[in-house]
Amino acid sequence: MLLGGNGQLRPSIFAEMSALAVATGAINLGQGFPDEDGPTEVLEAAQKAIRDGVNQYPPGRGMPVLLDAISAHQERFYDLTWDPGTEVLVTAGATEALAATILALTSEGDEVVTFEPFYDSYGAVIALAGARHVTVPLRAPAFQPDHDDLRNAITNQTRLIIVNDPHNPTGSVFDRETLELIVELAHVHHCLIVTDEVYEHLTFGHEHIPIATIPGARERTISISSGGKTFNTTGWKVGWITAPAELLSAILAVKQFLTYVNGAPFQPAIAVGLGLPDTYFHQAAGVLQGKRDLLAAGLARVGFEITHPQGGYFIVADAAPLGFANAAELCRKLPALAGVVAVPVSAFVHDDHANEYASLVRFAYCKKMESLEQASTKLLALSR
Ligand code: PMP
Ligand code: GLN
Repeated sequence: MLLGGNGQLRPSIFAEMSALAVATGAINLGQGFPDEDGPTEVLEAAQKAIRDGVNQYPPGRGMPVLLDAISAHQERFYDLTWDPGTEVLVTAGATEALAATILALTSEGDEVVTFEPFYDSYGAVIALAGARHVTVPLRAPAFQPDHDDLRNAITNQTRLIIVNDPHNPTGSVFDRETLELIVELAHVHHCLIVTDEVYEHLTFGHEHIPIATIPGARERTISISSGGKTFNTTGWKVGWITAPAELLSAILAVKQFLTYVNGAPFQPAIAVGLGLPDTYFHQAAGVLQGKRDLLAAGLARVGFEITHPQGGYFIVADAAPLGFANAAELCRKLPALAGVVAVPVSAFVHDDHANEYASLVRFAYCKKMESLEQASTKLLALSR
């Protein structure tokens, strides 16, 4: 914990493990960032923007060129229409979008439902908001929610349901029936839905269905995404929200005091990315699928029991068959044992549920083919 009185805030597992990778020279399959650059058009657009003097505060909602591109992208891929002037907001990555949304739309004591394992920032910001975090388990190996668990978790106390689809860390992609049930429950209990769709284009033979497209969802859904994963620009931190105007205004009121505005020269560049032809988006998913398959085969060869991610950057592997019951301990030793960094799935769950996930390790496959091959070979040391 750094400041304040909030005992639920700890240093992030990603920072800890990436520091370990730097200190030991191990291959970093921990933090989810690509080790290759994305499309040249996007990179050059940012360089050009800097040269052209796009270097001062942009407008609070975001630059019109990006607001228009986000709106056009939603229409092109999902048939969703959002007014770029009132229903779209640019944020400092999906992280700020999530923080501003949760802080704007919850009050102390409200319940916020997420699936578990959950992306770590959800738990931290729910705690900062003084809200109560209720979880619905995703159990190995399929990591799909049980519908009765969902019905039990969402009640009249629920203010927000956060749906991360495709899911980090498990790689699950939710089917239409599950999404329809979430929308139905949101209606019954008068709550709002927040989606985290940062891996929206990175699914492997499974259709990504934005919840906002489900009948009855649009008026109560805040949809969040980011350019980081789609264009290999995680360090640019350009994210966005699409939501009905009234909800968006409440979120903007918080966002202006978090960062005010962000990343002027990166905004027109991400706009270029969002306008790339369909082939770009299909190829990005195809290349990543090849990487998933390569690492999955490597981990299986080592003796991990692997699961089968349908989307996203990560694969969950069970280290129990190799004799490691505690993945958190294994991950701290992994650079020394095998020259590889990974993160324990227990970092994505509440302490009192950690036992269920104790032997599971998350590996990122959004890395160069040669890094994945080398890591697979080095990990063989675990089975010797
Ligand atoms: N949500 C999920 C599920 C993520 O995996 C990440 C990490 N990229 C984020 C949000 C944060 O995205 P950004 O870097 O755009 O803030
Ligand atoms: N989303 C990435 C991950 O899950 C990076 C997150 C971060 O560094 N905060 O690894």
